[in-house]
Amino acid sequence: MPDCEILCVGTELLLGQILNTNAQFLSQELAKLGINCYFQTTVGDNPTRIVAAIRQAIQRAHIVLITGGLGPTADDLTTECVAQSFETPLIFDEAVCDRIQQFFKVRGYPMPESNRKQAMRPDGSQILPNPQGTAPGIIWELEPATLEKVGNASDGDRRIIMTFPGVPSELHTMWKETAAPYLQSQYGQQVLHSVDLKHYGIGESMLAEKYAKLLDMANPTVAPYAGRGECKLRVTARASTIDDAVSLAESVAQQIEAGSGELCYGRDDDTLESVLGALLSSRNLTIAFAESCTGGLATTRLTDIAGSSHYIDLSLITYSNGMKLKMLGVDDLLLRTSGAVSPECAEAMALGIRNIGESSVGVSITGIAGPTGGTDEKPIGLVYMGVSTERGVVSRRLSLPSHLGRSEIRHRSASEALNMVRLMLLRNEI
Ligand code: ATP
Ligand code: MG
Repeated sequence: MPDCEILCVGTELLLGQILNTNAQFLSQELAKLGINCYFQTTVGDNPTRIVAAIRQAIQRAHIVLITGGLGPTADDLTTECVAQSFETPLIFDEAVCDRIQQFFKVRGYPMPESNRKQAMRPDGSQILPNPQGTAPGIIWELEPATLEKVGNASDGDRRIIMTFPGVPSELHTMWKETAAPYLQSQYGQQVLHSVDLKHYGIGESMLAEKYAKLLDMANPTVAPYAGRGECKLRVTARASTIDDAVSLAESVAQQIEAGSGELCYGRDDDTLESVLGALLSSRNLTIAFAESCTGGLATTRLTDIAGSSHYIDLSLITYSNGMKLKMLGVDDLLLRTSGAVSPECAEAMALGIRNIGESSVGVSITGIAGPTGGTDEKPIGLVYMGVSTERGVVSRRLSLPSHLGRSEIRHRSASEALNMVRLMLLRNEI
């Protein structure tokens, strides 16, 4: 199998002004194709260093994927540098220029002169179309003779260079529509298919122990990954056709789903909130939140899911004791005796919000996110969640380690509340 180097161009990447999500995207996509990526390089908008980086990359990888620097401005240097790296002239592509002109025409203004340079490409390369923007990329198959010309010790293999714009959405489209199918056609003896099995309520090491036998398999492979308070098992199968890879992965994925039961909440892009949203929708239930220490985080995560207006009635952030009393009707005596961070208060908040929202489910979260405010009796990381339904009200205590910090404690408290409702729905307790 060939290997690949990803080369990202842009001074703003080196200055830390933007996160290099293009490298992450390409690495993930290469893994899906079964192409190893041994180097990710980042270089600023400096022609000497770009040329040096290209020459070094082509020396150690069969495929070099370059992102950024295809724009029309003076600091967009990638195409010139690719040509210069192999002492090859740039040629003007009439058809590309017509397309760029058309791009401007439909937007109602003439093409700026500076955009002409986006119609240049190294002689011998092909266009990698960009359906979304003005700048196309190139696919350049470099023969050993071209490589030797610039002093690259050739192993007799062809090399491939592809360029993409820096704009992530354009890169994604070009990758999916042209680049990935092209690489597959060149090297696609084997295809990979992965399934992620998302787990909540079991740690990575427990999960690894539970599936120790599967973790030793060669095809498909099964690997655990830890996330924020949750973890997943990735099943990756390799086969000569996608159908074979899918069925190979599927048999193991189903085995894990059966073994994990409700600990496995979903697959791939599923999140606790998307799964909870689907469960509420399918049962025609509505939900209301009263959040204290999470400051609306559980609601935010659920409202991130498109279509959540069908089941979210209401959310109140009742941070002070006064508002817990005034808005939710939590008893004054309860607040003075048990305190706001208590199972009694969590239950009263859940009852209160369900009443106001006239919702099927009322959920509450109250706790101490820190870094100040903890006591021996009620330490940082102590959180109570309440769920109220027509069948009654329950609460749950969560003791998170204080070293997680405020943001993580809040995130995990919200996850826990979402998961609590998910489990109650699965168990027909709602
Ligand atoms: P343009 O025509 O917009 O100038 P370009 O191909 O020249 O495109 P850049 O100028 O390098 O690309 O980047 C355009 C924008 O794309 C940047 O402002 C940045 O927001 C984003 N971008 C560039 N490189 C990356 C990267 N590696 N990861 C994530 N985003 C990136
Ligand atoms: Mg640019």
